[in-house]
Amino acid sequence: MGKILLLIIIGLVVYALIRNYQRSLNKPASAQEHTVEDMVKCAHCGVNLPHSEAIYSGGDFFCTPEHKQLGKK
Ligand SMILES: [Zn+2]
Repeated sequence: MGKILLLIIIGLVVYALIRNYQRSLNKPASAQEHTVEDMVKCAHCGVNLPHSEAIYSGGDFFCTPEHKQLGKK
């Protein structure tokens, strides 16, 4: 009975270690990819900003409506 309990505990520890390892492998990579993919450059002042916050106009991205009006530098 003691041996079975020990095997179950070892199994749970191994399972937890594998889960932690996979999490540490997957998270930084996907987070980095997401950041790189989502950043765009303002065509007027060159500041980097998230794609969702950028204003798209005529093939270029702008950080603010003012820079969109000023246009590409
Ligand atoms: Zn700008």
